[in-house]
Amino acid sequence: MDDRTFRNAMGKFATGVTVVTTEFQGEVKGMTANAFMSVSLNPKLVVVSIGEKARMNPIVKQTGKFAVNILAREQEDLSRLFAGQLKEEKKVDFQWVDGHPILPDALANILCNVHSSYVAGDHTLYFGEVTDILMKDEAGDPLLFFEGKYRSIAKE
Ligand code: FAD
Ligand code: NAD
Repeated sequence: MDDRTFRNAMGKFATGVTVVTTEFQGEVKGMTANAFMSVSLNPKLVVVSIGEKARMNPIVKQTGKFAVNILAREQEDLSRLFAGQLKEEKKVDFQWVDGHPILPDALANILCNVHSSYVAGDHTLYFGEVTDILMKDEAGDPLLFFEGKYRSIAKE
């Protein structure tokens, strides 16, 4: 099977979009990821899948912590930025919570310590034990990803 068939099929699975963030040697590093999942309630675990070639991969391995920022509809530009799809560099104002750099206007910020990791093919699954969660009081719409394109929830 060719890669395009696989990606096209996986693209039929509509997801939200996250930016995984961490701090390493005084610098903030972020990476757009839609391979994110809730795993366990007791203990509270989530998982993100990070490509072996991504610069983020060795960084999370070393820091042992990361935050998952669930993007709002209005944050498409941040998704593009942290996927390396913007030509220009952009300064991002991170908020700091318990040593985690987080994106302030995300729908939720999930702070994690790496619980375990598992190399699976050309990605590593990082399981995160959730240490804290920040969430907006007001309801916001999520940024969605479907068939390789950004989408939003249709208004009723
Ligand atoms: P880098 O090239 O190091 O960084 C990516 C970009 O983020 C760069 O342009 C950099 O300037 C910017 N950036 C980083 N830190 C900062 C900062 N502090 N301030 C401002 N800008 C900063 N890949 C996966 O492995 N797993 C996934 O689940 C996944 N899902 C994706 C979902 C979508 C919708 C998209 C578009 C891409 C996804 N990717 C995923 C691909 C991944 O986001 C890119 O390949 C990414 O560029 C690889 O990360 P890197 O660590 O090598 O990036
Ligand atoms: P696309 O058509 O490549 O993505 C559709 C779906 O395919 C994604 O939602 C994901 O489930 C899967 N996918 C894509 N690349 C993958 C990879 N390298 N490993 C595992 N699954 C993958 O969409 P696009 O707009 O062309 O994507 C933009 C860029 O972001 C591409 O370079 C793509 O490889 C990357 N991306 C990577 C992942 C990932 O590593 N898990 C996920 C999404 C997008």
